[in-house]
Amino acid sequence: MLDKKLLDILVCPLCKGPLVYDKPKQELICRADRLAYPVRDDIPVMLEDEARTVTLEELEK
Ligand SMILES: [Zn+2]
Repeated sequence: MLDKKLLDILVCPLCKGPLVYDKPKQELICRADRLAYPVRDDIPVMLEDEARTVTLEELEK
């Protein structure tokens, strides 16, 4: 489980905006940049190179 306190302080490294935690997918999503940062072994990987692009369909959920 990701620490709630950690989630509160995490922001997108690109736009410094808030992130949405997708628990089932283990990703942290920045809606502004449409990027999903992976969470590996409860460690958020806040690297643009590691992030994947989120589709518009996914953002609409
Ligand atoms: Zn961002």
